[in-house]
Amino acid sequence: MELRAVRGMNDILPEEVERWHKLEGAFRLHAELHGYAEVRTPLIEPTELFQHQMGETTDVVEKEMYSFERHGDRLTVRPEGTAGAARAYVEHAVHAKEPVTRWYYLGPMFRGERPAKGRYRQFYQAGCELFGDPGPLCDAETIDLVATFLQRIGIGDFVVHVNSLGSAGTRERYREALLAHFAPRKGELSEDSQRRLEKNPLRILDSKDPRDHAVSRDAPSILDLLDDADQAHWQGVLRCLDVLGVSYVIDRSLVRGLDYYTRTLFEVKVTSSDLGAQSTLVGGGRYDNMVAGLGGPSVPAIGFAMGMERLLTMMPDVPARRGPGCFLAPLGQSGADRALLLAKQLRALGVSVELDGRGGRLKSMLRRADALGARLCVILGDSEVERGVIQIKDLVAHLQEEIPLEGAARVLADRALEASPGGQRGAR
Ligand code: ATP
Ligand code: MG
Repeated sequence: MELRAVRGMNDILPEEVERWHKLEGAFRLHAELHGYAEVRTPLIEPTELFQHQMGETTDVVEKEMYSFERHGDRLTVRPEGTAGAARAYVEHAVHAKEPVTRWYYLGPMFRGERPAKGRYRQFYQAGCELFGDPGPLCDAETIDLVATFLQRIGIGDFVVHVNSLGSAGTRERYREALLAHFAPRKGELSEDSQRRLEKNPLRILDSKDPRDHAVSRDAPSILDLLDDADQAHWQGVLRCLDVLGVSYVIDRSLVRGLDYYTRTLFEVKVTSSDLGAQSTLVGGGRYDNMVAGLGGPSVPAIGFAMGMERLLTMMPDVPARRGPGCFLAPLGQSGADRALLLAKQLRALGVSVELDGRGGRLKSMLRRADALGARLCVILGDSEVERGVIQIKDLVAHLQEEIPLEGAARVLADRALEASPGGQRGAR
């Protein structure tokens, strides 16, 4: 019997992992720049959590969850990160410790759907959740964080879609309007949508079945039903997006697959790619009622999740790996001793260093530095040590200069790091 990986679950071999590290590193850096700290929650949660938060009639809960029973508990391998993060937020009473909380996460999610390019049964998401701030400014900053992240990793060809779902009252009025629209044409809908018509007609707008698309095309838009507070929030989001210079399209058909959203919704799609139906890179929105729904206080929240495999498909190739930031070429005993120490100081500052310990001639050491693709080469001979200086050769700019040995590590680190787009700090 030949054993293979489970369908839709992929091995990621070391040669591919380098690109993953690059993407993960860039995300961590970007999220932390915006004040987010990492949270790690279990891969397995009570099934109820997803049923209640994502909604009983959603595709994920109805068809895609890996659920099982063990020791009398009904458990599910997480299909997404938001519900678990909100559960942890409530469980640890984080709201009592800080008014605004920013968390990010990275990790695998599990959904039993039909595998295709960019659609897997184990896939990875990176996401952010912001708890405690109801204002439209946050919505716009969150969307801007996503857009600038995509640009940072070299994806330029995307469109931000935004819509508002309003709050509970608006949703109820919208449900009725949709029911009035769909009920007379029930026979034209897919079986799934016919079944969901009474319970949750919003789902029909998010269906992937072409039969539903035809009937949805002229459905009423929720934007026409927003109440004054929803409308003010919505206009605030658009204004802040304009201030930030984020381009977007208002997409009245955007509803997204989960029940927990309120007010702002957004998705980022790519236009030109071979991802086909998997062209959505990022999905997010506000979920102002989830924390209270989990037994916590009334704390608003907004977040998003990005599909890492889809990002990797779109992310341009990492430039060929560069050599060390600094190559140290010592000459003589005291030069070698100082070089040893300098190498250690440079590594502590985050610079990759190769120290030539062969004790050969300068010419052969310089040849080696070139062959490695080093950015800087430092020459440290006994005479330099005596005068308290080092020689720096910039192998890219082809310049040579002498600087004091005292404080040299800092100067070298600044140059080596600033000059390495391949990034020894993991990001571009
Ligand atoms: P789709 O409409 O493509 O099914 P979704 O609305 O179910 O996406 P979300 O739950 O919003 O997706 O998840 C956010 C992001 O995670 C998606 O935009 C996508 O990039 C990624 N993603 C979702 N499901 C999968 C999957 N099965 N395989 C790979 N990536 C996925
Ligand atoms: Mg889906």
